Amino acid sequence: MFFKSMEIYGFKSFPDKTILHFDKRMTAVVGSNGNGKSNISDALRWVMGEQGAKSLRGDKMEDVIFHGTVRRKPMGFASVTLTIDNCDRALRVDSDEVVISRKLYRSGESEYKINGAKTLLKNINELFMGTGLGRDGYSVIGQGKVSEIVESGGSKRREVFEEAAGVSKFLAQKKDAENKLKRTEDNLLRIRDIASELE
Ligand code: ATP
Repeated sequence: MFFKSMEIYGFKSFPDKTILHFDKRMTAVVGSNGNGKSNISDALRWVMGEQGAKSLRGDKMEDVIFHGTVRRKPMGFASVTLTIDNCDRALRVDSDEVVISRKLYRSGESEYKINGAKTLLKNINELFMGTGLGRDGYSVIGQGKVSEIVESGGSKRREVFEEAAGVSKFLAQKKDAENKLKRTEDNLLRIRDIASELE
C-alpha cells in the first residue's frame, strides 16, 4: 500500500484544484516559510478522518476552508481526495486502488466517500485501523509528536504500540460488540417488564 496522489481543493491555502503525485519511494515538499507545506500534511490527516481542529492548527473545523485573500473570495467548501495503491490488499477493500474523499461545507455539512460511494466517518476509521494510517495512526508524525509520545504516560504510549501491532482494530470491535450486548440486555429487560405487566 502506498499513497499515489492527493487532490486538494478549497483546503486552507489551496483555493485552486491542486493535484500532488507522490513518488513510490520518497516525496519531499520544500518551500519557504508559510508557503503551505504543513497544510499538505494537514490535508492528508484531514482526509483520513482527523477530527481535532486544534491538531489541524485551527480553532474550529471551518478554519480548514480557504478563508480568502485581498484578491480572492473565501470558498464555501474544502475537499480533499486521496488515492491509495491497494494492490497488496493492505486495506480491506477488494480493489487495486482505494480513493477516499472528504468534503466540508461552511454550513457544517460534511461528506465522506470510499471509492465514490458515500460513507460514514466510522467506516473511514475502520478502513485504516491497524494499518498505522488514519487519524490515530503513527505514520504522520507532526512537529512535537515524538516528544509528546516520549513524555506521555503509560496508557497513551501503549495506544501507539497497540496501533502499530494491529491490536487497536480488535479493541474497537470489542467495544462495539460490548455496546451492542448492553443495548440487547436493556431491550431484554424492557421486554421482560412488559411481559410481566401483561401476565
Ligand atoms: P513553515 O515552513 O513556517 O512551517 P509552512 O510552509 O508549513 O510554513 P503552512 O503552515 O502550511 O506553511 O501554511 C501557512 C499559510 O497557510 C499561512 O499563510 C496561512 O495564512 C495559510 N492558511 C491557513 N489556513 C488558511 C485558510 N483557511 N485559508 C487561507 N489560507 C490559510
